[in-house]
Amino acid sequence: MVERFIFTKYRTSCYHCHEDADQVIKAVSSQAQVACANCGATRIFVPRVEDVSAAGTYTPISCYDIWDLETVAPCKNCGVEGLHDLIVGCNQFTTRCRNCGYTHFYKFNLEYVAQCPIEEKKG
Ligand SMILES: [Zn+2]
Ligand SMILES: [Zn+2]
Repeated sequence: MVERFIFTKYRTSCYHCHEDADQVIKAVSSQAQVACANCGATRIFVPRVEDVSAAGTYTPISCYDIWDLETVAPCKNCGVEGLHDLIVGCNQFTTRCRNCGYTHFYKFNLEYVAQCPIEEKKG
């Protein structure tokens, strides 16, 4: 059985290929990931905390690039399928149910590039 939680996209300049490309954002209880649709650069986040908390509790500070998004997702705490705040920072990933405040906090774990284009050497 596949758990369905967060599945959305955010179009921005990729930190890896520097193209304006969709960043595919997926999260379930056990893992969150952000993958570039253009170059395949993928960042994996692992869960650290799940709790009901006030907005902004886990918002990362002093990060150069924070995506502050919202998406509709089913909350496993209150059972409502509704808006969640989705905050992706350089080393943190949080989702928060607008209805009950239930927050998933993930910490950056690793990154890899799924596709590895071979660059031709000239000369
Ligand atoms: Zn990319
Ligand atoms: Zn909820």
